[in-house]
Amino acid sequence: MDRQDAPATPRMPVIFIGHGSPMNAIEDNPFSRAWEEVGRSLPRPSAILSISAHWETAGTQVTAMERPRTIHDFGGFPAELFAVQYPAPGSPDLARQVSALIKAAPVGLDARWGLDHGTWSVLCRMFPGADIPVVQLSLDHYQEPEGHYRLARELAPLRDQGVLIFGSGNIVHNLRLMAMRPDGFDWAISFDETIRRLILARDHHPIIHYEELGQPARLSIPTNEHYLPLLYALALQEEGEPVKFFAEGMAYGSLSMRSLWIG
Ligand code: ZN
Repeated sequence: MDRQDAPATPRMPVIFIGHGSPMNAIEDNPFSRAWEEVGRSLPRPSAILSISAHWETAGTQVTAMERPRTIHDFGGFPAELFAVQYPAPGSPDLARQVSALIKAAPVGLDARWGLDHGTWSVLCRMFPGADIPVVQLSLDHYQEPEGHYRLARELAPLRDQGVLIFGSGNIVHNLRLMAMRPDGFDWAISFDETIRRLILARDHHPIIHYEELGQPARLSIPTNEHYLPLLYALALQEEGEPVKFFAEGMAYGSLSMRSLWIG
C-alpha cells in the first residue's frame, strides 16, 4: 500500500472512569487492575484531554501550562498517597486548540491549576510512564447538564487527531451516605442500572435530564460534578459506535465504579 493510501489516524476511543477513592492510585484491586488493562489496550494517544469531577470553575477553563503540577486535593489519606507525583507534560498547543474549537462558551487558558486527583489517580495506573501530554478542561459550575453535553460535542474532531478524551467522575456519588459494606444501597444499584440500560440504548436525553429519574437519581447525584464527566463522554459517541463497560460495582455502598469505553 502506498503511503498516501494509508488510513488516517483512526478515531480514538473515549473513556469514562468511575474513579472512587483516591486510594485506587496506589491499591491493587479489581478497579485499578481494570484501568491498567485499558491503558495497555488503547492505541497510544497523542495527548489526553481530561474532564475531572474535581475541577469546577465559573466559566470554562483549560490548563495551558507546560508542566502541570500534581494536586493532592484531598485530606485524611496516608503519606504514601501524598507522595505520588504524575509528572506528565502539559500541552499549551492542545489547550489553545480546545479553546478555539469550543464555540458554545468562551474557554479561558489557565496557568494555575494542574492535574487533580480525578485525573492523576487514574492516569498513574493507565499510563504509568507519565509521558503523554495531559490537559484538563474544567466544569463550568453554572452550566446546565444540557450545556455541558453540547459543549462536549464540539470536542469530537480531537478524536481524529489521536487525542484521548477522558471523563473522570462517578455515576453514583454520595459521600454523605458512604458505608462500610461490600454491596451498594438499593437506590444506588437501581440508578446505576437505569443509566447502564440507557447508555446501551444510546438514549442520552433521560441521562442528561437525570433530575426526572426520581428518588434514586436524587440520592445518587446530590451534586452533579461527579456525574457531568459522563455526559462529556456520551456526547462524543457517534451513531453506531459501540460501548463496553470494563469496570462496574459499588464501593462504600454509594459510589458506582462503572467505567466505559466508547468506540
Ligand atoms: Zn472524586
